[in-house]
Amino acid sequence: MPQMIVNGRKTDAISGQKLDVISPVDGAVFTQIPRGGEADVDLAVKAARIAAEGPWKKFTALERGRLLVKLSNLILENAEELSQLEARDTGKAISSARNDIQVMARYFEFYGTAADKVHGEVIPFLNGYSVQVIREPLGVTAHIIPWNYPAQMVGRSVAPALAMGNACVVKPAEDACLSVIRVAELGLEAGLPAGVFNVVTGLGEEAGAALSAHEDINFVTFTGSNEVGVLVQKAAAEHAVKCVLELGGKSAHVVFNDVNMKLAIPAIVKGILANAGQTCTAGSRLLIQRDVFNEFMDLVVEEFSKTRVGTPEMDLHCGPLINKSQFDRVNRYLEQGKKDGLKILAQGQIDPGVPETGYYVTPTLFVADNHDSDLLMQEIFGPVLVALAFDTEEQAVQLANITDYGLMAAVWSENGGIQQRVAKEMKCGQVYINGFGAGGGVELPFGGVKRSGHGREKGLVALEEMSTTKTIIHYHG
Ligand code: NAD
Repeated sequence: MPQMIVNGRKTDAISGQKLDVISPVDGAVFTQIPRGGEADVDLAVKAARIAAEGPWKKFTALERGRLLVKLSNLILENAEELSQLEARDTGKAISSARNDIQVMARYFEFYGTAADKVHGEVIPFLNGYSVQVIREPLGVTAHIIPWNYPAQMVGRSVAPALAMGNACVVKPAEDACLSVIRVAELGLEAGLPAGVFNVVTGLGEEAGAALSAHEDINFVTFTGSNEVGVLVQKAAAEHAVKCVLELGGKSAHVVFNDVNMKLAIPAIVKGILANAGQTCTAGSRLLIQRDVFNEFMDLVVEEFSKTRVGTPEMDLHCGPLINKSQFDRVNRYLEQGKKDGLKILAQGQIDPGVPETGYYVTPTLFVADNHDSDLLMQEIFGPVLVALAFDTEEQAVQLANITDYGLMAAVWSENGGIQQRVAKEMKCGQVYINGFGAGGGVELPFGGVKRSGHGREKGLVALEEMSTTKTIIHYHG
């Protein structure tokens, strides 16, 4: 049975309570996890504080970095086991799970090799003074992780935090946390001191709320829904704790008349189907200039209709959705699309061999004639793509920016002027030109504006987010 990792030990919840983990593949209970609560969170935070101020503080940046690289190598050595865990827990296709584990390893490698390259500054000041600005860890960092990419997300947030000398308490999602527990075990194997990388499993409203409200954390990073992000930020504000929030998106593809269709269409279709649409950066809106609309859509329909949905082992385009509530929610949106007068242009197919009790939904491509429907305004978090025509560049920019979200966008055009003008007008944290990738690479700064959140992860900027500066002003005459 999976256990939590607190202060270097595998442990059950203090209450002894457990939570059933339901497989998205067939809706059946396949394991149990400890139902950690406030007392478990408190123990983990205390352990992290002792580690951060004691043994972990004595490690040089080079030593911390080497441990993270060792952890990266252990992840690669155990990649198949981790991939199987991730696929079973989340329901995603096994090849996607394998990719996620490679990305997790890459995070630990990237930040491990960067740990000793974070330099301070020397600032010219008044005569007789020397001024240094040095970087220091924040202390105890809290990481609330979602279920859509547990392995990637734990790498993305824990690796830079550890690289900077923080000690972490991770609260993974109750729906999918097995790879997170396993990587913390591998962390111990790599040689991380006890208390440096803790994992407390449990419900969001119990363990998650207790962690974000804990008075002895120094930072919290959260990825998930808007509603919970606001709660986390409010709880953190009670103790003046810094917060990074990544709250999803409603990313638009903006396709101009001179688009390279061969390049664009597979990327656009993949961009909504990856992880069955349960991706914060999913390209869920398809805005196409009117002159090319019909020709472009014919090809999108052809590509989209090839979509197949199945179990992780079938390794098709989409797996099931994570849970019953996500399944109901996406089906509600599909119904609402029809009520709102949107037309279905293409659908994928669920493989007849999938268990009837699993959470499989039919990937659906809609076309709309205005931007009013919730399907174009709200994050659906499922394999649902909606297309809409536009006339001018100005209108395209206005439509792309119309939602409350601002995470990612893509511009498809061969014209350098359009590419640069539109990319610069997009209100979001990342813009692709003639390409699309879920959140970009490990190296690329990532995060939202507007209701998509604030703060940046990935890239070297995460090392700044997860540390603070101290300015030393020395008068020596
Ligand atoms: P959620 O926001 O409830 O859960 C995300 C994480 O927050 C989980 O670890 C959960 O245990 C924790 N959590 C829940 N309540 C908490 C609380 N009160 N205090 C602290 N932590 C808490 O997300 P969900 O309910 O699993 O999914 C709902 C919707 O959220 C989805 O449909 C989707 O729109 C969005 N979502 C976005 C992302 C993303 O990558 N941006 C990821 C997951 C979900």
